[in-house]
Amino acid sequence: MPATQDSSVGNATATRRYRFYLNLNDAKGSLVSRTRLTDADFRLAQLAFQFERLRRDASFTYCADLHATQIVPHFADALQPSCVGFDVSDRTGSDESSITFDNDYFQHRVLSIAATLQREGKVAIGASLAYFLEAHADDEERQSSTPEIKIGTPRALISIGERARADWGASEPWDSPSADQMPMLLSRRVIDEIVAEAAATPEREIGGLLIGRLWREPTGDLYGVITAAVSGASTMTGDAVSVTFTPETLRKGRTFLASRSADHPGEQILGQYHSHPHGLCQDCPLIPPPECLDKIFFASLQDHHLMSSTFDQPFMVGLVVGVEPRLAQGLGHAPIRMFGWQRGVLKPRGFDVVDR
Ligand SMILES: [Zn+2]
Ligand SMILES: [Zn+2]
Repeated sequence: MPATQDSSVGNATATRRYRFYLNLNDAKGSLVSRTRLTDADFRLAQLAFQFERLRRDASFTYCADLHATQIVPHFADALQPSCVGFDVSDRTGSDESSITFDNDYFQHRVLSIAATLQREGKVAIGASLAYFLEAHADDEERQSSTPEIKIGTPRALISIGERARADWGASEPWDSPSADQMPMLLSRRVIDEIVAEAAATPEREIGGLLIGRLWREPTGDLYGVITAAVSGASTMTGDAVSVTFTPETLRKGRTFLASRSADHPGEQILGQYHSHPHGLCQDCPLIPPPECLDKIFFASLQDHHLMSSTFDQPFMVGLVVGVEPRLAQGLGHAPIRMFGWQRGVLKPRGFDVVDR
């Protein structure tokens, strides 16, 4: 069957659609669940593709258009319909580039499916599960009357300023920033504020919003700067193990942005911070080792959910703040760790501290 033509984009581009499934097998290889993936499941990958393009081009505005991208399965040779991953590319044909995602992209989706299966008693706690991605060409269904479901926040136009990174003064790298990632500068004042806020309430989680802007160097390189934090206090509910961002928290952020837009044009919400007020293990050495730090500074399933629902743009970050004084000894700096998107997966990342 020939691929269907997408009439909206001229005649050159065949846009075949696929149905994707995420299958979970138990240790014996029997299928325990099969989930049809939706457009929303590929949103982070599509955003990552658009953002990589933004980093390469020279524009000063950014508006992710997810409908301009297409998802093509990467079939495991001979094992079709099994996939080793998928590619995201431009469906209009105006850009030849594509980026490849392996199945790690779905790890959080799989964890949440597995958690549901456990709650429903369909798999035992601690059971080992394997997952694989499957795709089927969808030539017939495209003709059907089922409308494509459009999910997600309205597209936001993001404006990028022009300024040399050197204008921010000397910066100090924390946690080894990688050369492939967009540099993120973080004000030392913001760090002090959120560390003090977390330390003031060690019995429960606190959180808030990170404010800043994207900039381009005169050379074209893109970087971000976080210049302020807006505490979510009084707008969010928190206990010892979680904190909930509410619409009121976001309203407080927008009010803050409006109040200083004259002096700080183009600023926006760049992410969130929250504390993990967990104690160290009982016999932790004076300088906590990396494995103990990882038990406090990690991105939980809940953190992933928060980021992917509210802070899903590829340049947005999360800061996890610890409260135990010895953490600073182990980290070699104030008790915070930054998490950012790497091709749709939330991972710890390095950043640069500036005295602003
Ligand atoms: Zn320990
Ligand atoms: Zn968390």
